[in-house]
Amino acid sequence: MKLASYAAQDAASRGRRYPEASPAHRSEYQRDRDRIIHSAAFRRLEYKTQVFINHEGDLFRTRLTHSIEVAQIARSVARALGLNEDLTEAIALAHDLGHTPFGHSGQDALNECLRDYGGFEHNLQSLRVVDLLEERYAEFPGLNLTFETREGILKHCSVKNARELGELGKRFLEKTQPGLEAQLVNIADEIAYNNHDVDDGLRSGLLMHEQLKPIALFAGQYDEVRRRYPDIPPRRAIYETIRRMINHVVTDIIDNSRRRIAQSGIKDIEDVRRHPEPLVAYTPEVAEKSRELKRFLRQNLYAHERVTQMMGEAVKVVRELFEAFMRDPCLLPVQYQEKLGKPDAAPNRARIVADYIAGMTDRYALREHTRLLQSGV
Ligand code: MG
Repeated sequence: MKLASYAAQDAASRGRRYPEASPAHRSEYQRDRDRIIHSAAFRRLEYKTQVFINHEGDLFRTRLTHSIEVAQIARSVARALGLNEDLTEAIALAHDLGHTPFGHSGQDALNECLRDYGGFEHNLQSLRVVDLLEERYAEFPGLNLTFETREGILKHCSVKNARELGELGKRFLEKTQPGLEAQLVNIADEIAYNNHDVDDGLRSGLLMHEQLKPIALFAGQYDEVRRRYPDIPPRRAIYETIRRMINHVVTDIIDNSRRRIAQSGIKDIEDVRRHPEPLVAYTPEVAEKSRELKRFLRQNLYAHERVTQMMGEAVKVVRELFEAFMRDPCLLPVQYQEKLGKPDAAPNRARIVADYIAGMTDRYALREHTRLLQSGV
């Protein structure tokens, strides 16, 4: 498969933090992808909440299946646009590695705990995982991924943190763009969760399909499915609708991005980075429809009483774990205790405790919480 000139290419990579010989039978980005798949953080995604806490049901999305769906959508678009599929896949599979247990509530809780210690950002944590926390290789800390994969993982970043990140943080200060593969994964993430959350929401019974009828992205496809297949059972009509919704937005992105790229006159990845705005994008019309669906999900699914109730519990678990470890670092596993400075200053301790908690799966966090409370901490 021939890459477009504006795709990320091995030869033009900004390289790895610790120089390594090129792999013999793989591309640089294949190697990144492979290292991500072999990481412990990647395996943990299986037991981390996307929207529904892991033990709620076996069929709901987890962070792992979400990441695989993001990779699927992003790879399809990458191939159609002549982008680097290996890099796209690497970024997609790694994009949520820094997520805490219990989804966004867990993250907000941890951010609150770290208010006086620099806060907690899950994008930055994903980078911390691949740069530092995975200890698997003899010659370097982390996974030593290429600049381009790390650039894609760091989707957002506060100005304060960007200043400390050197080369990688620059684009948040200079307001430049990441490569097209990174731009693409960003959108594929949204397409994946918008659609699978409709699916999970309906299957869980928290959403009713009547509620979705005023939502343009859903209605457009649902009406068509009903017209063409009036006799299929409701559940099948929903699946057919969702599959068409994904196809609709993906097609829009491919056509629109192709047009924008052609009009922009960009020739290589450095042109992409310098371009004033992202080139991988929906048409304004589909962007608006997508925002409408997102708003709908926020109001009706993420804020649903049953979801917020579960999450209220989760916030308590995260907060109490944080407090317990801060009070008594001896409760931390030995390998985390070894990272405490001498003297053990509070900001450093808070960061190490946050690394430990962020790495927990939902059920491990619940077990640790029970263990510590039962031991009377
Ligand atoms: Mg995601």
